[in-house]
Amino acid sequence: MPIPRSFAFAQLLAGLLAMTVFADEKPSNPDYDASKPHHTPTGFKNNYPFDQPGTGGLLRWQWGRFTKPAIVHALDQIPRAKPDLAYLAGNRQDTTVTWIGHATVLLQLGGLNILTDPIFSTHASPVSFAGPERKVPLPATLAELPRIDVVLVSHNHYDHLDRATIAALNQQADGPPKFIVPLGMDRWFRSEGVHSAQKLDWWQHVTLQGPQGEVVINLVPAQHWSKRNLWGGENTSLWGGFVLEHAGRKLYFAGDTGYSKDFQDIGKHFGSIDFGMIPVGAYEPRWFMHAQHVDPIEAVQIHNDIHAKQSMGIHWGTFELTDEPLEQPIRDLAKAKKQAGLADQDFVLFAIGETRRLFAD
Ligand code: ZN
Ligand code: ZN
Repeated sequence: MPIPRSFAFAQLLAGLLAMTVFADEKPSNPDYDASKPHHTPTGFKNNYPFDQPGTGGLLRWQWGRFTKPAIVHALDQIPRAKPDLAYLAGNRQDTTVTWIGHATVLLQLGGLNILTDPIFSTHASPVSFAGPERKVPLPATLAELPRIDVVLVSHNHYDHLDRATIAALNQQADGPPKFIVPLGMDRWFRSEGVHSAQKLDWWQHVTLQGPQGEVVINLVPAQHWSKRNLWGGENTSLWGGFVLEHAGRKLYFAGDTGYSKDFQDIGKHFGSIDFGMIPVGAYEPRWFMHAQHVDPIEAVQIHNDIHAKQSMGIHWGTFELTDEPLEQPIRDLAKAKKQAGLADQDFVLFAIGETRRLFAD
């Protein structure tokens, strides 16, 4: 029997109503630089043309979800591991990657503890009690992780920018981490009382001094969008991915993206990537999701475009955001690798909570 998603649908209707009421609002872009094609007077846009299903498409997709039976997830197929917290707390030497779930990854690089798109809440939502729910528990609390030195946030969607998590990080013992964000997101951080957010445009970088030497953090393009308020503010802040450079190695965190020529540009700019973190979830139905979320076939194409030696899948197995079951990326990525002639180890999926040491000889 179909289970109505009445809350989601009511939220959508409220949002559409609010968009109509506040349609006149024209926010200005204080970072506007007319020489940059992805800047607009009111915000930002993607580098390459793409088909974007409009509000009608959003309604059609939501209506489909509303009228169809609930999605059944085989959550027991999503692998889980217990992180070695004592090792992570003591490690300043090894380069490690730990998947916390969704797009939240703990990177230990150059002796720095770096967290990407941190969300430790039960829901990816503006409210703590509703919206997309965490289906697989966190492998560790934020307090159990080592002190975080740097936080990278790719864009302002709720499954990547979580208010409660940012507040907790800002209040961690020994002071807030350094937050690195795309242009325009610094305004949100300041409004939350966070004053250590550094903004970057695409192709800009910041150099950090870690215990094991310099770590360079570059912001790179992605094909996506931004919006946080039901009443407007679409694309008023930028979105992107990050390339982290340390000791001649390059790590890439894609954030949230559709497929575009941007990845060939990233491949040309950096030559090669030692380890990529590329989204492989939240991709169905394709007619609606293709503009903003890659599927595993496109994720493998990104892996090839950026000349990655190895990649891992992120943005899956955690929150129900779209129409495919949470474990489906396991099957679809395996097929995509086979089709593209990739070896199994070229593009891997971690267990939630799993740590892998990179570049270990
Ligand atoms: Zn997003
Ligand atoms: Zn997302």
